[in-house]
Amino acid sequence: MTVRIPYGRQTIDEADIRAVSETLRSDWLTQGPKVEEFERELAAYCGAKHAVVFANGTAALQAAYFAADLKSGDEFVTSPITFASTATAGLWQGAKPVFADIDPTTGNLDHDSCLRHLTPKTRAIVPVDFGGRPADLAAFKRLAKAKGLVLIEDACHALGADLAKRKIGSVSDMTVFSFHPVKSITTGEGGAVLTDDAGFREKLSEFRTHGIKRSEDWLYAVESQGLNYRLTDMQAALGLSQLAKLDGFIARRREIARRYDEAFNSWAELEPRVGAVEDSAWHLYVIRLRGALASKRRDIFQAMRRAGIGVQVHYIPVYFHPFYERLGYKKGLCPKAEDFYSRIISLPIYPGLARAQQDEVIAALRKTLDALGAKAHAR
Ligand SMILES: *Cc1c(COP(=O)(O)O)cnc(C)c1O
Repeated sequence: MTVRIPYGRQTIDEADIRAVSETLRSDWLTQGPKVEEFERELAAYCGAKHAVVFANGTAALQAAYFAADLKSGDEFVTSPITFASTATAGLWQGAKPVFADIDPTTGNLDHDSCLRHLTPKTRAIVPVDFGGRPADLAAFKRLAKAKGLVLIEDACHALGADLAKRKIGSVSDMTVFSFHPVKSITTGEGGAVLTDDAGFREKLSEFRTHGIKRSEDWLYAVESQGLNYRLTDMQAALGLSQLAKLDGFIARRREIARRYDEAFNSWAELEPRVGAVEDSAWHLYVIRLRGALASKRRDIFQAMRRAGIGVQVHYIPVYFHPFYERLGYKKGLCPKAEDFYSRIISLPIYPGLARAQQDEVIAALRKTLDALGAKAHAR
């Protein structure tokens, strides 16, 4: 069955297309003036001193781990309810991901569980802003400071989110974004790290360009095991054009979330929505099935897919993946995350989702629940 309404997708207009075409006619294709401009604008938007952009969000995460000097023998504590690359990018730098449990009301890393998982080998704390809702960053900042750890925020869902009158991107030691087509804005593939720290900034750009620190005349010095993780000027031009529309995109996502709330808040078979805050970037709208209905998750998922609705599940706990099992991670590590995973379904949410399409999603879910005998009654 083809998916007519995906869970997420890009929003591209003629201005975006023009911006990319103009760059194709310029002297620069790879990293050049558009990359610099995009970095300046992105940093300004977030209220951070520096932005360093990368080929994708995973590369940006790996660069952040490099800049934080994570090495073999080091550990970082993160959430299992995330995309695998939060953990895998750290493994590439030789460090070991340690999974702490989540707060089931938000899907975000739980502060106390994180605290219990710190060891003398811990070097970084890596909360994920699940679904676009900021993690408890004030608490993690205090914890990181008290223990001398680097706070690296995986904010791949959260560009455009607000936290206590600040923009996400200006709070943690390093904040990582992705510009994959389903994220807040897109460059096709792309990512960024935001930081106020000049030392981190230097390390990040060194890693992005082959470990080269500076060059003079014909001389350049490879100082570390860097890679080529650059973003192109074509992509940066798209990013700049998209960034100008970011606030509008987020406003639209918040409106869609509110409409889903109105539709579902009274349904007894759903738990109150995840991430019930207005300052979220609303990358995901996640519903949780209640009680006995949780065991019908696969039926509900398949019925929605048959109706052409691209529901998804975010996320399979990272350590459930075969690769992580082979590394020795065992089921049962994070019981709250595992329970959360067993009950969630993500519904379509993206700026271009039309009202009529959203109504169709809501009607399809109601019909599915009714067919399962779990009438959508009032609580
Ligand atoms: C998208 C995403 C990434 C990876 O970003 P890419 O640009 O796809 O490499 C990492 N972490 C989270 C939470 C994400 O959603």
